[in-house]
Amino acid sequence: MAIHLPNRHLFIDGEWRETVLKKRIPVINPATEQIIGDIPAATAEDVEIAVEAAKKAFSRNKGKDWSSASGAYRAKYLRAIAAKITERKSELGKLEAIDSGKPLDEALWDMDDVAGCFEYYADLAEGLDAKQKAPVSLPMETFKSYVLKEPLGVVALITPWNYPLLLATWKVAPALAAGCTAILKPSELASVTCLELAEVCREVGLPPGVLNILTGLGTEAGAPLASHPHVDKVAFTGSTATGSRIMASAAQMIKPVSMELGGKSPIIVFEDVDLDKAAEWTLFGCFWTNGQICSATSRLLVHVSVMPSVLNACQKTSQPKALCYSVRPKKALHQNFWTDLSNGPKKLKSLILLKKVAGLVQLSVEDRQYDKTLKFIATAKSEGATILSGGGRPKHLNKGFFVEPTIITDVTTSMQIWREEVFGPVLCVKTFSTEDEAIELANDTQYGLGAAVISNDPERCDRVAKDFRSGIVWVNCSQPCFCQAPWGGVKRSGFGRELGEWGLENYFSVKQVTQYI
Ligand code: NAD
Repeated sequence: MAIHLPNRHLFIDGEWRETVLKKRIPVINPATEQIIGDIPAATAEDVEIAVEAAKKAFSRNKGKDWSSASGAYRAKYLRAIAAKITERKSELGKLEAIDSGKPLDEALWDMDDVAGCFEYYADLAEGLDAKQKAPVSLPMETFKSYVLKEPLGVVALITPWNYPLLLATWKVAPALAAGCTAILKPSELASVTCLELAEVCREVGLPPGVLNILTGLGTEAGAPLASHPHVDKVAFTGSTATGSRIMASAAQMIKPVSMELGGKSPIIVFEDVDLDKAAEWTLFGCFWTNGQICSATSRLLVHVSVMPSVLNACQKTSQPKALCYSVRPKKALHQNFWTDLSNGPKKLKSLILLKKVAGLVQLSVEDRQYDKTLKFIATAKSEGATILSGGGRPKHLNKGFFVEPTIITDVTTSMQIWREEVFGPVLCVKTFSTEDEAIELANDTQYGLGAAVISNDPERCDRVAKDFRSGIVWVNCSQPCFCQAPWGGVKRSGFGRELGEWGLENYFSVKQVTQYI
C-alpha cells in the first residue's frame, strides 16, 4: 500500500508559507532507508514572522483575541481538532509509522491518544470560565484580595521525534486551552504528522496565528525560537543536553521553562510474583516503542533467587525466530505483524525497528540512535558485561535501521550501560538481595523519570513507591500513561509536569489583586 507524503510548507498566521531561505530537509523511511519526501527547514527569519503572528493573535483585538476569549470558545476549536484527527486516524497513523519508524499499531494508538488529549483539555478549558477569579482569604477585614489566572503569552513548544504528534499534543492542547498562542517546533527527524496538525487547524478554522508550526533543525529554528525576546515561555521535551542549552539561553531573559528530559528508569522484580507476568512487564517496559521511550524501564533489578527464571522467561519471549519468517522490511509497516503487542504485554514482538538518526545523512547530524545503540552494546561488552540475547542488527535484514532487542547481564554500577540513557531496545540486569539494596540501586542514577515495582505485597509496593526518587511510579506494570495524570521527572529528567490539570498550569501566570476597603 503506497502512502503519499503531502508536500507542506511552514504554517504561520493560519497559512502555508514557504521558508524565507527556501530550505528543506529530506524525510527518510527508517524501514527502507529511502527518501520519501521533504519538510521545510525554518531559520531565524521564519521564527521572527511566526512569533509576530503569535503575538498578534494573543492580543489582536482586545476582548475578542484568543487570550481573553472564553474557555468555552477555545474548547470548541480543541474539540473540532480532536474530531478531525479521529476522522483522519488511519492516514495519520501510517504517516507517523513511516516517518518515525514506529510500528503501525502503536502509531494508530497514538492517534487515539492525540484525539483524547485534545478532548480532555477542551473539558478543562470549559471549566476555566467558572474559576477565573478566585478569592483569597486575608487576616484583615480592611483588605480583600483575589487572584486571576492569566495565559502566559506566546509560548514555544519544542518536541522530540519518538512520539511526534502525541508529545506535541501534550503541549499544544493545554497551551491553547489556557489561552496562550504557540509556535510548535517538532523534531526535524519526524515532523510529518505535526504538519498535518497544521492542516487540521486550517480546516477547522482555528483563528490565524493561534498555533504556528515551524519545522527545522534545532540549531537553526529551535535555538532562535527559544531565545526570542517575545517568547514568554519555552516548554521543552527532549534530551537532557538540549534542555540544558535551552535553560542557559532562557536564563539570559529570566524566561520560564518546563523541561521533560531523558531517563534511565528502573524496574524492581521481587521474588513473590508470577515470574512469567513479571517477564512480560519487564520486556514491555523496556522494548515498547522500540525502547525509545524516555521512561523505558531499561534497568531490571531482580531478586537474586529468581533471576534465572525471570531471564529465561524474558529470553523465551524476546526470541526473534517466531517473527522472522514474515519480516520483509519494505512491507513491514503495512503488515500488522505487531498486532499481538497492541493487545498488551502478552507476547512481546521481538524485532525492533529502530530509527537511525544518523541515517539522515543529508542533515549531517552526528551519529545517533542506531549507531549509538550499537556503540552502547559494544562498550558494555568491552567493559565486561555479557550480551545474553540480541546485540546487533538482525542477520536477515540488510536495509532499515533495525536492532535486535538486547538483554545485558553481569553489569556493574560503574558501567556506561548502567548510567547512561541508550534510547534503544537494550535492557541491563542486576540482582539484589534486600529491599533496601533494591531501592539504593534503583535510585543510583542521575535521572528520575519513571520507576516500576513488581510484587504481590501491597505494603512493600507502597513503601517502594515512596522511596523511589522519580516523578512517575508504576506498580505491577510499566509504561501505562493517562492524560488525566501528571507526567514529568525529578533530577536530570527535568521539572514541571505535563498532562492533567498540572499540564494546564504550565501556561498560566497568577496575578493577585488586593483592594483596600
Ligand atoms: P533532542 O534534544 O535532540 O531534540 C529535541 C528537540 O529539540 C528537537 O525538536 C530539536 O530540533 C530541538 N533542539 C535541538 N537543539 C536545540 C537547541 N539548541 N535549541 C532549541 N531546540 C533544539 O532530543 P530527541 O533526540 O529528539 O529526543 C530524545 C530525547 O528526548 C531522549 O533523551 C528522551 O528521553 C527525551 N524524551 C523525554 C520525554 C519526557 O517526557 N521526559 C519524552 C520523550 C523524549
